[in-house]
Amino acid sequence: MVHGIVTSDLGVEQRQETRGEKVVSKKPIKVMKERCKGCDICISFCPHSVLNKGPDGKVVVSDPDACRRCKLCEHLCPDFGLKVLDADAVDDPDEEAGSDD
Ligand code: SF4
Ligand code: SF4
Repeated sequence: MVHGIVTSDLGVEQRQETRGEKVVSKKPIKVMKERCKGCDICISFCPHSVLNKGPDGKVVVSDPDACRRCKLCEHLCPDFGLKVLDADAVDDPDEEAGSDD
């Protein structure tokens, strides 16, 4: 098992570790930017100030370590733009760039 730090294009560090060929992500939230309309509901209601608005006006996960995976943001988003991941979720290598924070 190899541990490492990666930095997203928004400067948010995310811890990752590899198990064999798969990358296990420590990120708590998957943001589906194509669905986000930047309404700020999730940002306003997150009790731990995990979310913020990015330069494109859409939500970003600015403080992933503060997330408690309570799923409040996922339930409140009217456009199904957020998915709270399990702690042992595995990154999809075919995932489109830009569909995440
Ligand atoms: S509640 Fe949904 S649509 Fe509104 S900012 Fe958050 S992710 Fe985007
Ligand atoms: S799961 Fe809870 S703590 Fe994490 S970003 Fe959503 S509302 Fe905030």
